[in-house]
Amino acid sequence: MEHIDITRLQHLDAEHHLHPFNDNAALAKKGTRILVKGEGAYVWDAEGHKLLDAFAGLWCVNLGYGRRELGEAASRQMTQLAYYNSFFQCTVEPTIQLAVKLAELTPADLNHAFFTNSGSEANDTILRLVRHFWAVQDQPQKNIFIGRRNGYHGTTMAGASLGGMAGMHKQGGLPIPDIHHIDPPFWFADGGDLSPDEYGIVAARRLEQKILELGPDRVAAFIGEPIMGAIGVYIPPMTYWKEIERICRQYDVLLVADEVICGFGRTGEWFGSQYFGITPDVMTLAKGITSGYIPLGAAMFNDRVAGVLKHQGGELAHGCTYSGHPVCTAVALENIRILQEEGIVDRARTEIAPYLAERWAELGEHRLVGEARIAGMVGALELVPRKGERRFFDERGHVGVLCRDTALKNGLILRATYDSMLLSPPLIWTREQVDELFEKAWKSLDETAATL
Ligand code: PLP
Repeated sequence: MEHIDITRLQHLDAEHHLHPFNDNAALAKKGTRILVKGEGAYVWDAEGHKLLDAFAGLWCVNLGYGRRELGEAASRQMTQLAYYNSFFQCTVEPTIQLAVKLAELTPADLNHAFFTNSGSEANDTILRLVRHFWAVQDQPQKNIFIGRRNGYHGTTMAGASLGGMAGMHKQGGLPIPDIHHIDPPFWFADGGDLSPDEYGIVAARRLEQKILELGPDRVAAFIGEPIMGAIGVYIPPMTYWKEIERICRQYDVLLVADEVICGFGRTGEWFGSQYFGITPDVMTLAKGITSGYIPLGAAMFNDRVAGVLKHQGGELAHGCTYSGHPVCTAVALENIRILQEEGIVDRARTEIAPYLAERWAELGEHRLVGEARIAGMVGALELVPRKGERRFFDERGHVGVLCRDTALKNGLILRATYDSMLLSPPLIWTREQVDELFEKAWKSLDETAATL
């Protein structure tokens, strides 16, 4: 590999690059880690360390690294027609083909795609278009969105407002008006003596209480991640989403599933909504849609919502220069083709996820782990001060960071949110990689526990 002057690059990075979701002063002192190569399940840093990426970049590299076909699809499209827009009564072929493919893949009658550059923009899109949907039906007051505290829907004004991260709300005067939040479903911390299934119903009924408090004629939509990712992979009990769906139907509140993480096989199903057996009216997508090889997001609307937008909505005053960018949609098509033709989602569900669940449960036996939760190819280990008690560390996050850094030293990338160690590997993992995860994670848990 070509020689890289790491110290100089770190210095330049500290001087000129503001990193997202980082304490930039602390990072400048420590020096950023520079990644240089990816192949299959592994990435390499500039110092030559080979790392098992158990987080798929940022929940996105579902196909694994280094698939030449995606690069070739991008190159072909760039050479043939690098760009054209979808504004002036025109569009490009891969964008049409991708809209068709998404209509086919997503559940029920989610048949209509609006393209964006990111998951955040997809969530901005649904906020605006869903409000428009109600407004053109003479219900402009039906404009409130309900999300969840600690939910994550991106970083734009709307995305961060729909999300319920207190730290994000503190910066920039959020949330914007007419967005409300209910408590998330997190049995480990909040379930008390209820069984997970009983708790799922209780947690879902918080939505009903909130709708009744605000008035059903004011509530436009409920938005949620099928599995709450960023906050710590909160996997709701199976009763939760069914009850949420019932409530949304009863009060004519649109159900929006933010599938930015769960979409494209993360749970072993193509979409998290299928894992929980629900049919949303609107879905947002990003990340796995291109396996992270190129930026792309989409909002999917069902026939009812799209029908109103098309036939009563007039001109849609919404769109990005790169909505339906041909290179991005060509790469997405190639990504989906490979996921389908190589049976990667099916194989993850039937072969890898069950073995991963087995070994993840073994990690759950470690004295530092209070809960090992997993759904398909996404999970978390909840680190606790006292095994057997559903209680957090007094200083939350310290042990998680320690464990994350120890894992990194041992050649394993896991993410830490507070003291939850998050897992979201590429779907192409084999049993060997699951075993490697187990060995490295167990060693890292041991070493972390030894320092406490
Ligand atoms: N929604 C969810 C559930 C996410 O996890 C994320 C990003 O992590 C987003 C939305 C925002 O997507 P993006 O970072 O592409 O804007």
